Amino acid sequence: MNPSEFPLICPVCDAETNSQGNPFVSEWALSCHIAGSAIVGNLPHRRWIKKVLGDVDFSRSNLSIAEDLEPEVHKALKDVQALQTPNALAQDIEVKLHNYIKERLMDYYGETRSAWWVKGVPQKIRMECANRLESDNEDDRQEEPYQYTYFIDLKEIVDKKWEVFEPFASQVTLDERQLSKKVFLDWLQKANSVRNRHAHHIRAPKEGSQRYRDDLETVTTMKRIIDSLCDMG
Ligand SMILES: [Zn+2]
Repeated sequence: MNPSEFPLICPVCDAETNSQGNPFVSEWALSCHIAGSAIVGNLPHRRWIKKVLGDVDFSRSNLSIAEDLEPEVHKALKDVQALQTPNALAQDIEVKLHNYIKERLMDYYGETRSAWWVKGVPQKIRMECANRLESDNEDDRQEEPYQYTYFIDLKEIVDKKWEVFEPFASQVTLDERQLSKKVFLDWLQKANSVRNRHAHHIRAPKEGSQRYRDDLETVTTMKRIIDSLCDMG
């Protein structure tokens, strides 16, 4: 994977930038960050180093510890990347978006079903979810019709109730711009297409193809958007 396409993320603390705010441009930069954090006493980074290297003398120089760490950082990033398929990321996005929308609607309209569900979710979606609930196997049936939304329903809720999401979305920047309604909906649409393409493994674009890389980039961006929104609480 080309590091310039995807930001490198610290396998310990999920940071995308060093303490000066610069993105990690290489595995070496990331190794220096982990070594540096451990040297100043950060426990999670210390524990991680201990796990991969055994006992390390933290009075050694940053560079010398980072040198030992680099192959381990390389392995850890490979492991993370192996899990980051378009399908896995799309599913992750859907689950997060589903929870996030409900939280926002409850905050805005109130926590009772007659408030957030009735006022926040368009009637057509409510009826479709109720139908899906009724036709589900008795063994699998969920109590809450909201559990039966499709990705595309979530997009429509954002579209129809933008006033609920706008104050938060406007704090997210993408390509150095505020996240507008149109851009947000476009990304949701694109993420939905990726989800549909990759949900059926037989028809999904093959790993290594341009389509696959484009899809991975799309869901990576969408995941960054939803993660920023969730981080705002
Ligand atoms: Zn870190």
